[in-house]
Amino acid sequence: MINIQRKQTRRIYIGNVAIGGGAPVVVQSMTKTDTRDVEKTVRQIKQLEKAGCEIVRLAVPDMDAAKALGEIKKRVKIPIVADIHFNYKLALEATKQGVDALRINPGNIGSKEKVKEVVNAAKERKLPIRVGVNAGSLPKDILKKYGHPTPEAMVEAAERHIQLLEELDFHDIKISLKASDVLKTVEAYRVFSEKYDYPLHVGITETGPSPEGVVKSSIGIGMLLLEGIGDTIRVSLTEHPVVEVKVAYEILRAVGVRNFGVEIISCPTCGRCEVNIKRMVNQVKKALREIKQPIRVAVMGCSVNGPGEAKEADFGIAGGKGQGIVFVKGRIVKTVKEDVLVSELLKEINRNLAN
Ligand code: SF4
Repeated sequence: MINIQRKQTRRIYIGNVAIGGGAPVVVQSMTKTDTRDVEKTVRQIKQLEKAGCEIVRLAVPDMDAAKALGEIKKRVKIPIVADIHFNYKLALEATKQGVDALRINPGNIGSKEKVKEVVNAAKERKLPIRVGVNAGSLPKDILKKYGHPTPEAMVEAAERHIQLLEELDFHDIKISLKASDVLKTVEAYRVFSEKYDYPLHVGITETGPSPEGVVKSSIGIGMLLLEGIGDTIRVSLTEHPVVEVKVAYEILRAVGVRNFGVEIISCPTCGRCEVNIKRMVNQVKKALREIKQPIRVAVMGCSVNGPGEAKEADFGIAGGKGQGIVFVKGRIVKTVKEDVLVSELLKEINRNLAN
């Protein structure tokens, strides 16, 4: 793993998950079910838990949704964040229902008294508040001042919310500054992180379906992580949220921030390929999907680049004419026929991991 100097932020906790202050970068997602439908929402959160999601956010559009949170909370393991816009009463109900954090912008909920009520409820239960600034909904006066939603305008909007919380001596704050434009988002986080040490939730918003959304998210989140910025991440895709979690982990792995499970190195294949790489990769992925230890497995198509990559990985195969070589930790351990190449590779992996 490359050594990235992470920006020092304050530590907060969402449930038992540490955020900031040197804690590992946390993967979040958001349910796409109607929160009032407890069964469907719990089912989706369990799918997310299985995929490795560490915190989940739920939209709370009305009082029925707020009242459903307690039952949902009882039936899931990961901390839940209530996502509320404008209505402070929903925030108060969510805290009563036992959520682990609130996402609410204090500047949007009305009088100072209302803000104070929400902050007191959060303080009483030790709940952090995430302030989420979105380029699409900046205050009118800030937009007028900057002409359009610039990174500086986004940071100023965040500062307004933060000030309200700080005036009430509330500091368990996490910030996000999202736009659908990659470079604008990246710059907003950079500007903010120069000035504050609040932990940052990083993401590019409304990126669309895959592959477009995957590319935008990977570039934006990846750039920030490589600069040491970001304490939690969410990939926002027009896809099932489990896909968001899988992509988030791949981003963390690609930038060397967190390492886990099986990393497959496989060649794209070309006219030199003499074995069915696609089928082999699918077999290897399926067979190793439950492994949590960080290992690299190379599945390569020929004797040109194959042996080099296979040697560098923990385990590898390089195909040839109807046969292939199996590598373990850089050493050739056997040459076998193509039809048993994958099974021999898997045998070696299982034997080595068991020792
Ligand atoms: Fe082509 Fe061989 Fe490279 Fe695969 S490893 S892309 S088959 S040259």
